[in-house]
Formats: sequence, C-alpha cells, structure tokens
Amino acid sequence: MAELSLTLSERHTADFEMIGNGGFAPLTGFQGSADWERVCSEMRTTDGEYWPIPITLASDLECEVGDVIELSSDEGKKLGRLTVEEIWDRDVKREAEQVYGTTDEAHPGVAAIYEEGNRMLAGPIEVDALPDHDEAFMRRYKTPAEHKADFEARGWKKIVAFQTRNPIHRAHEYLTKAALETCDGLFIHPLIGKTKAGDIPADVRMRCYEVLMENYYPQDRVVLGVKPAKMHYAGPREAVLHAIVRRNYGATHFIVGRDHAGAGDYYGTYDAQKIFDTIDIDELGIEPLMFEHTFWCNECEGLASNKTCPHDQDAHLFLSGTKVREMLGNGERPPHEFSRDEVADILIDAYKED
Ligand SMILES: [Zn+2]
Repeated sequence: MAELSLTLSERHTADFEMIGNGGFAPLTGFQGSADWERVCSEMRTTDGEYWPIPITLASDLECEVGDVIELSSDEGKKLGRLTVEEIWDRDVKREAEQVYGTTDEAHPGVAAIYEEGNRMLAGPIEVDALPDHDEAFMRRYKTPAEHKADFEARGWKKIVAFQTRNPIHRAHEYLTKAALETCDGLFIHPLIGKTKAGDIPADVRMRCYEVLMENYYPQDRVVLGVKPAKMHYAGPREAVLHAIVRRNYGATHFIVGRDHAGAGDYYGTYDAQKIFDTIDIDELGIEPLMFEHTFWCNECEGLASNKTCPHDQDAHLFLSGTKVREMLGNGERPPHEFSRDEVADILIDAYKED
C-alpha cells in the first residue's frame, strides 16, 4: 500500500501544533461531524466540554476510514500522522452563520473556511515534531505544561493572561497593570505566526515586549510566552477560544478588551465580553476580566478609561494607528504618554532598516 501523505495549509499547521502541544486540550485530533454539529450549535464538544470553534481538517486527499496519513507542515516539515476515523462533508454556510455570525465572504474567517471546501477528514493525531518558528519566538517557546509548571514553581495562584498581536503601548501597559494589582503574576502571551508584508517582524516585536518588561514591570511578577496559533477572527467565539487556550497554559484570568478578536464591523464592541454571560465560568475554568478602551487623559494626568475618567474627549490623547506609524517612520517618538521611549526607539530603528 502506498503511503498517504498530506501537506497541511498554514492554518491547519497551526491547529496541528495547538492540538499537539496541549494548547487545544481536550482536543486530541481533528474533529468529526458529531463534534462539529455540537460545537456549531451549542459551543460544546460531544463530551460536553466548552468548545467554540470547530477544529477540522479540510482535504480532498483520496483515502478511506482506517488509513494513516503522514502530515507535513506548510513548510514541508514532517509533523506526525492522522488516523482517519471519519470522512464527512460540512455545511460550510451553517458554520459561517453559527460560529462567525455572518455568511459574508468578505469576512476573513468566513472567506478562509469557504476556500477550504467542505470535505473533511477527522481523527486523532500522533505528534513526532512541532512546526518551526522564527528564532526570536523560539527563545520564549514553552508548551502549556511547561508554563503551568513554571507558574507553580513561582508559587503563583492567580495568573492573568494578556493576548496581543502588537507592541504594547501605554494604554495596554496600564490595563495589564490594573489586572496585576489583584493577581500574583502576569502572563504576556502574544500571538505568533508568519509575518506578512507590512507586519512588524518577529524579533522587533519580541524586543518591544522585552524592553518593556525589563524597565517597567517587576521582573518576578511577569512572564513572556508565545502562542503559536492563527486568528480566525470569529469575534466573541474566538474570545472564548483564547480564554480556553490560556486556561490550558495555566492562567486563571484572562483580559478581554473591547472588539476582542473582531474583524471589520461584524461584531458589536462588547460582544466578546457579553458572550461570557452565557457561560458557566467555573466550568470554563478561567475568569474573563473585562476592560474598557484606555487612554491618557490630560486632566486626570494619567491613564484612564471611560469607567474612571469624567472628562471630555478633548482631554484625551488620541493617535490613530496610521498617525503613529507615520511618526515612527519619520524617526519621531510619539508622546511618551502614548508610548514608552524605549519601545518607540526599537520601532523607529526597525523602520530605518526597512
Ligand atoms: Zn480624565
């Protein structure tokens, strides 16, 4: 019998890694039709555990139930194998509607599942190796079990996780510190993934986090990790997935901001916070901490949010992302009320190298 092999897409490679490293526990493989059904309609696996987004493997590979397929990453690295338990067709429109809340093909998450097609292979995976990442990320790479053991060794009981895809400026520094006031430790957990044109390179992003930690956080109360997953942009449901993943990494609390994991105008500003009202938090095993948009206020003379600041918007420092990039590109530091000079300088240097 000829050996069956399959090269995974970038997203399937990321899913394989998260299943394989324990980040997607309790999943042990790519989900089948019964799980898909219950995840879509009830946000639970067939075992009854919370699970918000189907983790499935779309493929046209000719094979039969019982076959073993050798899997490679999108970059061609041999990862392990899938034992085919089920070959099935999904109703992709229904998945779009129930999971993403829209069937609009302009939605990046919906576009991705439409493009994948409907024929699915399901079954448990065996892991020989995990995909490779940029060296800057690998230095900080730990599995969920390793982070959990580290938190235990530090004696931390309350650990708050912060998800980010960007350098941390003052507003986000403020909310992580507000959370840290009532927790034992802060777990900064940026999403890593392939950098596309226009993205901030991996090593630059990591240096931004490191310089901030070294200069503005108590060293013994903050840990920097990396999360090797792809965004689905499923808004509220993705916020639940982010929380479950951080629970698996050992966190007890998770920061949920406004517009968490959203895309365009598909979700309301607070949808990603409200979804947790429908969830039994004890059963989920991690508590969301809801935060407002935060900013520097000239009247308060400090960082604040609409929950803590009574002043008009003209007292608030506002800089658009475009404006900030323009300033950095011109070698100009944004006001230090907006960004720490150390972070700004790293970004300015990175723009010069471009
Ligand atoms: Zn104010």
